[in-house]
Amino acid sequence: MKIDDVHKMMDPVKSTAKMPVLFIGHGNPMNAIEDNEFSRSWRELGKSIPKAEVILCISAHWETAGTFVTDMGKPPTIHDFGGFPRELFEVQYPAPGSPVTAAEVKKLTELTTVFPDEKWGLDHGCWSVLNQMYPDASIPVVELSLDYRQSPQFHYDLARELAPLRKKGVLIMGSGNMVHNLRKINWHNPEGRYDWAESANEKMKNFIMNGDHKSLIGYSQTEGEAQLAIPTPEHFLPLLYALALKEENETVSFFNDKLVMGSLSMTSLLIAS
Ligand code: ZN
Repeated sequence: MKIDDVHKMMDPVKSTAKMPVLFIGHGNPMNAIEDNEFSRSWRELGKSIPKAEVILCISAHWETAGTFVTDMGKPPTIHDFGGFPRELFEVQYPAPGSPVTAAEVKKLTELTTVFPDEKWGLDHGCWSVLNQMYPDASIPVVELSLDYRQSPQFHYDLARELAPLRKKGVLIMGSGNMVHNLRKINWHNPEGRYDWAESANEKMKNFIMNGDHKSLIGYSQTEGEAQLAIPTPEHFLPLLYALALKEENETVSFFNDKLVMGSLSMTSLLIAS
């Protein structure tokens, strides 16, 4: 499905009561500033979904021991990568934070203690996408960390507890990549392909389309192609945060459903009624 078709399905009037949920395949940090098919769809998305009061981002790039939520009024822009052009390091995404939303996240979560964080900010999993979706950085942004000690099921269950935020104007956005194997990236052939990567991407999409979240949660821990597609869990887990928030009457629309450089899928989801 093309992003334009996704937008046609959205009814801004009906959707204001409950914010949609996103999983974004963020890919290369350069998507933050490049004009390409992915960044264009992010810009269109920003214009077409209801405007959030606050964005809660679960990024692959913030892993911690324990669960933390950014609690500062002005989260700094973190350039958590190396070897990219200076213009990418010069990007600032000066969105305000939202200590009120951070407190709400802490209050809603019963599964674990959520600790306030004053040191992190916005990593590129978050700002590379938002820089295109909302270039004016006017919507406050809060990040929730991934506790690397926990199971996929834990992350799914934690996400479910955040559901009430959707009715309070909070856009919950997981940012990772369904298939993410940097060691297998085909730098010299952007159109290169791997059967295992395509198969894993399709398999995950099928679990999602069938609403079979249980199998998807287990998939990352199976042997074979899943180990190649998901060698480490951090880019996969934000997907579970998005899916856990899907309600019965809601549909999942795929966009940017494409593998790049062989082993990185940009496949993204919009969950809305
Ligand atoms: Zn990443």
